[in-house]
Amino acid sequence: MNAPTVIPGCSKPDEAVAARPVLRERGQREVFCGLTGIVWLHRKMQDAFFLVVGSRTCAHLLQSAAGVMIFAEPRFATAIMEERDLAGMVDCQDELDRVVTRLLDRRPDIKTLFLVGSCPSEVIKLDLAKAAERLGKQHMPNVRILNYSGSGIETTFTQGEDACLAALVPEMPAQASDAAKQLLIVGALPDIVEDQFLRLFDQLGIDNVGVLPARNARDLPPVGPNTRYLLAQPFLADTALALEDRGATRIDALFPFGAEGTTGWLHAAATEFGIDEMHFNRVVAPGRERAKRAIEHARGALEGKRISFLPDSQLEVPLARFLATELGMEPVEVGTPYLHRAHCAQELDLIPPSARISEGQHVDRQLDRVRADKPDLTVCGLGLANPLESEGFTTKWAIELVFSPIHGFDQAGDLAELFARPLRRRDVLEV
Ligand code: SF4
Repeated sequence: MNAPTVIPGCSKPDEAVAARPVLRERGQREVFCGLTGIVWLHRKMQDAFFLVVGSRTCAHLLQSAAGVMIFAEPRFATAIMEERDLAGMVDCQDELDRVVTRLLDRRPDIKTLFLVGSCPSEVIKLDLAKAAERLGKQHMPNVRILNYSGSGIETTFTQGEDACLAALVPEMPAQASDAAKQLLIVGALPDIVEDQFLRLFDQLGIDNVGVLPARNARDLPPVGPNTRYLLAQPFLADTALALEDRGATRIDALFPFGAEGTTGWLHAAATEFGIDEMHFNRVVAPGRERAKRAIEHARGALEGKRISFLPDSQLEVPLARFLATELGMEPVEVGTPYLHRAHCAQELDLIPPSARISEGQHVDRQLDRVRADKPDLTVCGLGLANPLESEGFTTKWAIELVFSPIHGFDQAGDLAELFARPLRRRDVLEV
């Protein structure tokens, strides 16, 4: 096992957090690649199309991650690179131009086209930025063409969303210098959840609110020094950097999971926008109480239970905080592929000091620790769940947490249930 090491560079001046040891690991990984993000991004951005430039493996991954979906007009596809492309026997840029032109001729409804890089396109160093620029000039103003990488080389699957949103930021219009202060919610949320948050901000009196990504990728909100952005997801490091390059400032907050996380997230925005405390409490109290009642249903199954997270979705830190502070679970290990200490500072502060925080992946060592720790529930990727179940461990698929609506007050009960269900199932099987 690696000796625990302290990562320098925590931006929070809280000594407990700054000094919190983090076990850093590098080794074999078992995660999906960034292409997976297309499954939820294409549902969110309804005028966008995702063209993966990849292999048959990439096409299979997308199909299986998306399930069996029958669309009259699908909004993602794979331009499959054949052996002769990979062997450099044809000009891939020419081939790509032909595929894109054919696609756009057939589909005038596409307003934003993402060329999505993959492992094969990166291995042969196919320059998709150059392709997007060249094709963009041909097809503007009807279609905006952007590119990002969804490859599985040194990434985990939620980084696909980060790369996609970071590609959108330079396209956002500049905010007028005398524009009113604007709140920007960042992170792809299901429409129903986004609407709940927009209603709450409206009731709070924050009316200049933008979202990234917008439902129509062409309706990008403006950005500039009067933008205060609030991350809805903990895995948007590159997007945050790109927004800051455009002058925006991050509002430090908990992530909106559970009654308290959602209250903290809304409160951080309300404070930034000078909302009266009494008014805040009046607006937020009904949702907060609803969420508290809803999560109580899962308390019996979860309270006092020990939980380990293997690194997968990058949601691990805020979810461990939610389960520890709101449901009385005991996090044993909280593993995350990448830990953004500044974005997760408030979350780390609330995770009990007994929990081991780890960053990076080394599957064998992590599995050894699960066997030694014997948690009641292990949250992990699909590839590790079956082997662990066969050894008698109860598991939860991390990817389900990304595909389910889990943010906000009205989803808090469902979020708790996602963790309670496998434990109840185990109890039933053991009877
Ligand atoms: S991008 Fe890489 S990891 Fe993802 S499906 Fe394609 S080949 Fe596999």
